[in-house]
Amino acid sequence: MQTIRVAEECTRCPDLAANRHCIVHGYGPSNARVVFVGEAPGRKGGDLTGVPFTRDRSGIRLQRVLIDLGLSAEADPRVERPRLRCFVTNVVRCNPPSNRPPTQVEIGNCQSYLWQELSLLQPEIIVLLGGVATRAVFPKLLGQPAPSIRQVHARVWAKDGRVIVPVRHPARISNADLDRLMMVLRSLLQG
Ligand code: URA
Repeated sequence: MQTIRVAEECTRCPDLAANRHCIVHGYGPSNARVVFVGEAPGRKGGDLTGVPFTRDRSGIRLQRVLIDLGLSAEADPRVERPRLRCFVTNVVRCNPPSNRPPTQVEIGNCQSYLWQELSLLQPEIIVLLGGVATRAVFPKLLGQPAPSIRQVHARVWAKDGRVIVPVRHPARISNADLDRLMMVLRSLLQG
């Protein structure tokens, strides 16, 4: 399983560089059709394992979604280096102190790493996990202001041969929203 190492020694955000255990690169195969973009690695998850969305609660929730969609070859969502058939990454690569949301400056400092990953991968489907990822990525890829995630959860936008789907963050998603997300992603993956 590959990571794309685009941020090896980064110290652009002094608070984050001092706080992190490791820089958490995007993770998954380089031929992935689908990319999931989260906010930042969790203190009890990716910051310790080095793999986005692992070990902590939201990580295990997302891994369960990937297993159900056939995007992970694992049966156990707790596996910390899962054999994925998709790519999972974050807007910000270092854990912010106390798991606070990343600031606009930190997002700006880190964004070029995400654009490099997306341009290497050229995915067909980009799933934006939560408001931070939606606000950071949606305007750049679609050329319009980011909508409120509450209003557009699991709605599909298509542009330049690629599909963008903003969804509620796995840490905060309700069962009804999770059902809708599964339905929409299943139908996109079959297409
Ligand atoms: N873990 C991540 O990697 N990203 C998130 O947004 C939350 C948990």
